[in-house]
Amino acid sequence: MIAEIIAIGSELLTPFRQDTNSLFLTEKLNELGVEVAYKTVVGDDRDHLVSVSRIALSRVDIVIFMGGLGPTEDDLTREAVSESMRLPLKRNPDLVAELYARFAARRIKMTENNVKQADVITGAAVLRNNNGSAPGQWLEGQYEEKQKIVVLLPGPPVELKPMFAEQCIERLRERVPQQFIATRVLKVALMPESECDARVAPIYKEHNAVQTTVLAAPGDVQLHLKARAETLEEAQQLVDDLAEELEDELDERVYSTRGESLEQIVGYYLQMRSATLAVAESCTGGLLSQRLTSVPGSSRYFLGGAVVYANDLKTAFSDVPPMLIAEHGAVSKEVAVALAEGIRKRCKSSLGVGVTGIAGPGGGTPEKPVGLVYVAIADGKKPEVMKRKVPGDRERVRFYASQMGLDMVRRKLI
Ligand code: AMP
Ligand code: MG
Repeated sequence: MIAEIIAIGSELLTPFRQDTNSLFLTEKLNELGVEVAYKTVVGDDRDHLVSVSRIALSRVDIVIFMGGLGPTEDDLTREAVSESMRLPLKRNPDLVAELYARFAARRIKMTENNVKQADVITGAAVLRNNNGSAPGQWLEGQYEEKQKIVVLLPGPPVELKPMFAEQCIERLRERVPQQFIATRVLKVALMPESECDARVAPIYKEHNAVQTTVLAAPGDVQLHLKARAETLEEAQQLVDDLAEELEDELDERVYSTRGESLEQIVGYYLQMRSATLAVAESCTGGLLSQRLTSVPGSSRYFLGGAVVYANDLKTAFSDVPPMLIAEHGAVSKEVAVALAEGIRKRCKSSLGVGVTGIAGPGGGTPEKPVGLVYVAIADGKKPEVMKRKVPGDRERVRFYASQMGLDMVRRKLI
């Protein structure tokens, strides 16, 4: 069974409001084994509403409408669904009485426009709203000779969520074929998306039963695997088999296989090796430290470090010889190594990381262009340094540099 979610409200078509309800609904539907095939956002316009309603009814089994159930002129969902399904609205006297009682209890006079919230599509069951005035509706009926489930929910998340959880999930579970969904996420650091996909596509294409999605962020590629089956074990087996083959191909480039973040994995390795870390950051301005300390318990392995933007501070806080900066420039492999070694000694940590680069948009030269980044790691023996020319804007360069720092620590400890 597949579903379409329709978010109704002209405000959702402006840059100021976003449809967030559909994220919640998608999660719940997926848990039931229902795939969301379409999401539509439509303004408060009756003709547009009827149009999207007809399209949805003709292409999916379950249509969930949300918003537009209130008392005002622009709340038109009931009318539009009634029209598109050719089922008239009927005023429900019990609901009218309840609306009056609701207002009376608050000692407010109810205005006449509220009454339309008591209009119910012929054949629909009423979904009680314990958090607001507009009731929802649950309808099972025919459209173009096919059986459809149609649900109308109020727009405010505080009303929609409990109504769906308490009154729709069980109803759906009884009507959709039992299915289980298993997922896995593999994450790969510092590999271009195209290279990663070229290596893994021949493998995942052989696994038709698993849906594989490749998501790329700067310095980070994620492979999302999803399978459905009649039992959870079966679904799990499908994703696990594919995950194993993908891991064999990508080997140590995969840093996480159960969705963990790179900073979590780095923390895990540091703890496992009883190692400690200190960092000296120039172009990342503390981002590497921020990411490391975002993990609860990071005080067990992350000692701290310094943000050394100015050259004087590279010397003052990380003992980078001024001569080295004069000779090679602040953005150089020599300075990256000196930062890593200097901060390691200063902080008495087992590992030190130094980051230097040109984040842009200004400051680039033909020899040292924007995006040039050096990251070094020192362990008291032989330092290592990685050089990258990172494409993209300032934020991207900075994130990529922090990713380099984290991944170098991880690889050192593997
Ligand atoms: P309505 O039921 O159309 O009167 O919507 C009332 C309020 O609910 C709107 O002003 C929004 O703030 C919120 N809302 C409506 N639809 C959504 C949605 N899809 N996601 C999140 N909030 C929504
Ligand atoms: Mg609205």
